[in-house]
Amino acid sequence: MVVKAIGRLLGIAAGTVAYALDPESLRAWHRTHNQKPYRKKQIAEINRWLQTTANYREYCKPPKAKAWMKRWRDRQGKRSRYRANAKRQFHRRRAREASAFIGDRLADAFTGWIKGKKLACHWCGEKTTNIQVDYLTALARGGKHAFKNLRTACYVCNPAKGARMSSAEFARYRRARGLVVARDDSAKRQFLMNPASYIA
Ligand SMILES: [Zn+2]
Repeated sequence: MVVKAIGRLLGIAAGTVAYALDPESLRAWHRTHNQKPYRKKQIAEINRWLQTTANYREYCKPPKAKAWMKRWRDRQGKRSRYRANAKRQFHRRRAREASAFIGDRLADAFTGWIKGKKLACHWCGEKTTNIQVDYLTALARGGKHAFKNLRTACYVCNPAKGARMSSAEFARYRRARGLVVARDDSAKRQFLMNPASYIA
């Protein structure tokens, strides 16, 4: 706790502070955490997480997820906190879009073009018809509705990234969990190769 606070104050990593204060304690920490049982535990944790993702993927299949969401929404009262939040989020999103849309015709065309097509996700590389537009720099982080800021993302990766992480952070997050970072831009290439899709 204290070490973290000092680190934040000086703008350096907690590990560096810990090492400066007591090199031996940090060495001890590395000794225990690099041992086989600990690594085994970590691997088990990653596998459990992957299993959860697999379940989540199954769970998110459109018809099922839609039915589930509808049931959940119907259970919420008209004046519930959920409704109030949804309304606030809707208006926030609109405000963001208003400031982010810069009249990029290519971006507009691409957003429409991907709907219902079986395209590859930029992050996991899987092809799905439930493909969404992902802002590399999220609108909430000041990203623009520009073609170069757009990627395709599947219904699992897009909400997983959201505005929580920058694209570099999300790549690191995936690598740390043993997930591929496909950087598959075949959808964009396919779009650009077909002028009829964007010249109106
Ligand atoms: Zn994906």
